[in-house]
Amino acid sequence: MNITFINKIKSLVMYEFVSLNLKCPKCGELLMDKEHLVDNEPSIKLFIDKGGEKGLIFLSSIYGSYNYSSDIKIPVGDIAKFSCTHCNAVLNSKSECLSCGGEMVPFYLDMGGKVSICSRSGCKNHHVEFEDLSQALRKLYQEYGFRGRKYPQDERTKEQKEKIYEKKVDEHSEMLESGTFLQSYCPHCRKSLIENDLLKLKIINGEEGYLLLSPYLNSFTSKSTIYLPEDKPVTDIKCFHCDASLVEKDKGCDKCGSPTAKINVSASSKLIDFYICTKKGCRWHGLSEEDLYSIKLEESDEW
Ligand SMILES: [Zn+2]
Ligand SMILES: [Zn+2]
Ligand SMILES: [Zn+2]
Ligand SMILES: [Zn+2]
Repeated sequence: MNITFINKIKSLVMYEFVSLNLKCPKCGELLMDKEHLVDNEPSIKLFIDKGGEKGLIFLSSIYGSYNYSSDIKIPVGDIAKFSCTHCNAVLNSKSECLSCGGEMVPFYLDMGGKVSICSRSGCKNHHVEFEDLSQALRKLYQEYGFRGRKYPQDERTKEQKEKIYEKKVDEHSEMLESGTFLQSYCPHCRKSLIENDLLKLKIINGEEGYLLLSPYLNSFTSKSTIYLPEDKPVTDIKCFHCDASLVEKDKGCDKCGSPTAKINVSASSKLIDFYICTKKGCRWHGLSEEDLYSIKLEESDEW
């Protein structure tokens, strides 16, 4: 395997949404929970014990994301014990985290190899070892290609598509279809918000970090460089070029009422205002009143 190929795969893992399937190292069972999504992907379901307080935790399966949801509060800096939801074995190991001294928690990867995370809340140390690097890379490549997660297959029938097309012609309006790549710009400085094929936003939520979103309409996978609790609005969303806030206090989300963030998206002939809900996990997005006459967003419950 040549160096270019390895570098491409490395950047894929760094910048795209690679969802890792983890297995319990004691019983070998898959720990993924398809019902409970974190970052819009199946999560890793574990029992957690924080000084005697017991609960469930769902970790993001997206490589490089530190998001999770849990029924107990886990303050930053606290150490927790993790155990398998199949065999109940405690998974914390004797090996120490090189950055904070906490216990590391190892898991097996379904593609062969091991990933370990630190048991201290807020510690971002983790490492991945592949049993057979070339085999793992080949598998990642087969699954993701060089462009990250494939956009879900268009499963609409020919008739459904024709109906959408008729609607388009009837109303003399443009339809932005699911899967359309949204060329996104800051409404203040007009610079592109797309970096490495992802929609990048600066995010403030106690600390400062970045939120990376899929730029395809109705694809909701995301990851962030700081912890963002599911189902809570973030404090502020800013342009990473000019630092202007994108939050529109007056335009609430149609679904949950949280404030929205406004970006510009290019449609066939003009830039339109495009709103995204600031609440993590809320899938609402919409257009401004004026644009609603000329542009329609294809609705999707599934994507
Ligand atoms: Zn187990
Ligand atoms: Zn640590
Ligand atoms: Zn800007
Ligand atoms: Zn919302």
